[in-house]
Amino acid sequence: MRLLLVFALLLLGGAVALILAVQHQSYVIEKFNQVRLILLDGQGADCLAELEDLGVDFTTLGNQGTKKCPVLNAVKLSNLGQTNISTPVVLSCPAATKLAHWARDIEAQRISHVGALNCRNMRGSRIMSEHSFGLAIDITAIDDAVVSKHWTNVGARGKKLRFAAQIACQHFSNVLTPNTNKLHKGHFHFDYGLGYKCDAQP
Ligand SMILES: [Zn+2]
Repeated sequence: MRLLLVFALLLLGGAVALILAVQHQSYVIEKFNQVRLILLDGQGADCLAELEDLGVDFTTLGNQGTKKCPVLNAVKLSNLGQTNISTPVVLSCPAATKLAHWARDIEAQRISHVGALNCRNMRGSRIMSEHSFGLAIDITAIDDAVVSKHWTNVGARGKKLRFAAQIACQHFSNVLTPNTNKLHKGHFHFDYGLGYKCDAQP
């Protein structure tokens, strides 16, 4: 009988701990998302001047987005100086300058992307994605090197992609590649957000 009581108490304690953990996690994630918004910085006219110095063709859009997903000092990029982009892309200015520096450093003629701006959570998480704030871009190809095909290629195209990812680590906070997980087997994710992750090695 006493054993049964101990077992019941253990079960109850476990259930309470589980509930607390889940509630606590929600609280932490909610707070993180709130703090993330406070830390956003569009970097004003200095950032736009830097973009101009880099020879980028862009239009200024001011502050865009929503309360949940503000895009500060938004710019629409038509090209990155010497580098063409597959379709114009809207980014928050600080991420745009990072992208332009990166494209110049790797001497890319053309980059292809599958979007930047997207108000959503990180996949498999309730933390807001940096795509929400115009601080991230997903790159699928650089010149003739295609991420989904050539990431582990031993030839020139593979080398180009791996070099591009390494250089991206110098400019962006987070660089995710096919090396990161299956979600990124077809594109590079670059963002200028919090934290630091560099998955440049294949
Ligand atoms: Zn992404």
